[in-house]
Amino acid sequence: MRFVSVSSSSADLFVVGGGPAGLATSIFAAQRGMRVTLMERGVLPRDKPCGEGLMPEGVRLLDAMGVSVSRSHPIHGIRYVDESSGVVEGRFASGIGLGVRRHEMSRAMVRRARTLGVRLQEGVRVQAVRYHRTGVVVELDREKVEAPFLVAADGLHSQLRRDAGLERTRGRVRPARYGFRRHYQIPPWTSFVEVHWARGAEAYVTPVGSDEVGVALLWHEPAPSYEAMLRRFPTLDARLRDAPVTTALKGAGPLRRGARRVCRGRLALVGDAAGYLDAITGEGVALGFQSAQAVVRALTSGQGLAGYETAHRRLRRRHVVMTEAALLLARHPWLRRRVIGALSLHPRVFSRVISAVAHTDERQEELRLKLQAPVGTLDLS
Ligand SMILES: Cc1cc2nc3c(=O)[nH]c(=O)nc-3n(C[C@H](O)[C@H](O)[C@H](O)COP(=O)(O)OP(=O)(O)OC[C@H]3O[C@@H](n4cnc5c(N)ncnc54)[C@H](O)[C@@H]3O)c2cc1C
Repeated sequence: MRFVSVSSSSADLFVVGGGPAGLATSIFAAQRGMRVTLMERGVLPRDKPCGEGLMPEGVRLLDAMGVSVSRSHPIHGIRYVDESSGVVEGRFASGIGLGVRRHEMSRAMVRRARTLGVRLQEGVRVQAVRYHRTGVVVELDREKVEAPFLVAADGLHSQLRRDAGLERTRGRVRPARYGFRRHYQIPPWTSFVEVHWARGAEAYVTPVGSDEVGVALLWHEPAPSYEAMLRRFPTLDARLRDAPVTTALKGAGPLRRGARRVCRGRLALVGDAAGYLDAITGEGVALGFQSAQAVVRALTSGQGLAGYETAHRRLRRRHVVMTEAALLLARHPWLRRRVIGALSLHPRVFSRVISAVAHTDERQEELRLKLQAPVGTLDLS
């Protein structure tokens, strides 16, 4: 390959990846006055296999970005359905979630980013990055550009994470998990995200409009087809049997990918690129928004990226505990039956668990930090 030029960019920040985490980073940074260039290998707005349930903290951050989606469905909590042991549901303690199609959320975020002056480059694939003491040089298909900082938001299988030597390669071996999603034209029967549990798989039903639901299947015990997998959930299968399918099947996986650290010099990883456990708790997008906000705070605090590593570790801690607990239930049906049976007798306990997953106490956490932080070291406005 021949590079045609080396140009010093007028950007303060390069963002690679136009998914929710990359767009959120660009928007938060532009709101703080940074000049941002985002590079996406595909076309914007983007679609992606996803359960499309946005937790209340994600909705709050979407609002903070000034993004408004035009088609969505409110989500008031999570309902667990295990056909052999019963049903338990928990309401979010505060705020509401949203069921929103990925294409619609991307469209609204792209529009907001453009309004704020973010330079969006589509159809651009980052080939390699070179790191210097004062900045980064990004090699694109036909040119090289320079900027002081680079945020890699290039998703689950992040090439930039790998190339920077940040990929976590060791860890406990577990059954690989994959996900598929598809949409059906049917009026939602609930404003809860329904999680149906079965042998080796879960089905997530998310209302995404007044006449459409999304169904995401996650599994570690494969079946020959999506239809065969759906038959493991007889009640759901019967409900959807006559509903027209509105989208093509899209899949992703294996889902578990790790990062040893989330910063190296002038590079920071955000969203799935910073490590991903599983879609089982439906937190990926909200966590991506939170990491985007944290990296921009670090960059604009005058301390470079130093604070982001710690902030990200704190953000992930609760997510890791919740996700590992849910995966334990997915792997052990006898334990799941006992837990769902017990929680159905104490629905308030389940609501507390759901609210912890939904990060609805984030504002209290911000308040706590604000009170602890010496003046001038943390900007939480
Ligand atoms: C089946 C399934 C169900 C899920 N359900 C939910 C849910 O209900 N709620 C929830 O919040 N989360 C859910 N998630 C997780 C959620 O989808 C992810 O956490 C989220 O998409 C992460 O956003 P991101 O921006 O980090 O990465 P992505 O959305 O993957 O975006 C990465 C972008 O980077 C671009 N890119 C990659 N490499 C390059 C390159 N070299 N140069 C330029 N561009 C590049 C890609 O084209 C892509 O647009 C689910 C995931 C799966 C698989």
